[in-house]
Amino acid sequence: MAAELIDGKAIAQQVRAEVRDDVAAWVAAGHEPPGLATILVGDDPASAIYIAGKQKASAEVGIRGFDHRLPADTPHADVARLLHELNADPAVNGILLQLPTPPQVDGPALTEEIAPAKDVDGLSPFSTGLLLKARPGLRPCTPLGVLELLRRYDVELEGAEAVVIGRSDLVGKPLAALLLAANATVTVAHSRTRDLAAICRRADVLAVAVGRPELVRGDWVKEGAVVIDVGMNRTDAGLFGDVEFAAARDRARLITPVPGGVGPMTIAMLLRNTLSAAKAAHA
Ligand code: NAP
Repeated sequence: MAAELIDGKAIAQQVRAEVRDDVAAWVAAGHEPPGLATILVGDDPASAIYIAGKQKASAEVGIRGFDHRLPADTPHADVARLLHELNADPAVNGILLQLPTPPQVDGPALTEEIAPAKDVDGLSPFSTGLLLKARPGLRPCTPLGVLELLRRYDVELEGAEAVVIGRSDLVGKPLAALLLAANATVTVAHSRTRDLAAICRRADVLAVAVGRPELVRGDWVKEGAVVIDVGMNRTDAGLFGDVEFAAARDRARLITPVPGGVGPMTIAMLLRNTLSAAKAAHA
């Protein structure tokens, strides 16, 4: 029987509605609305679209936006100054520096200067350390979205064999850490892994974040497995995930479609992280 689809679009809408209600209750209790500051240096059109999407989503749930656009030739020191001002501004609870930045600005280094309590992307070394120690902190949005999908579909993680393919700082590594914290037995595979098919076949939960269209073949999926496809691969033939969807669906119990699976969760979790950061700032 074909697997049930994990409806990331619907779950993301639910999360956004919950954040909107929680923000309204927070403000009704006499607090300032949470604030999300974004910094975009230059006018890269794709980056501008991402930033606009995040600002729009924030406004829809009552999060106050601080949309900083700097000219492409802004010196590193000026971006650093703005970042430090935002670190010190109590109206700002989350800070995002859009990468990549123009060459004179060291974006990755600046990202590390975002105050840990405002690191709503959850990607700084400090946030990574908290995650690995299973201590409270802000978690990276896409992996957090995956955990939210698994939770809402009642997927048992305790003792489950989880296989994560991909070990990027953005997705694979933090996803493996979150699954481990949820007491799954986690295997992380990557480009040097031998016999990927055999490793996939033992997964109760198979999460793939590689960026290669349909790398994971349907017959690598264990009967009854839960398949999470993080991949987003635009090709001439359309948008594909990292999993051979139709064949995998015939064997899996639950599977995320691409699009409409993991993708919509990222912004939803960013909004939730921003609200969490605001609450933590008042704790
Ligand atoms: P990335 O930084 O390029 O990392 C890809 C990982 O896949 C690396 O660890 C690499 O291994 C591994 N890999 C490459 N080829 C492989 C192969 N043939 N077999 C096994 N492993 C292989 O990518 P990323 O940023 O994690 O993104 C992965 C995918 O997720 C992309 O399609 C991206 O668009 C998508 N994505 C979606 C969202 C969202 O839906 N919101 C968010 C982020 C990313 P090595 O480490 O050995 O090189």
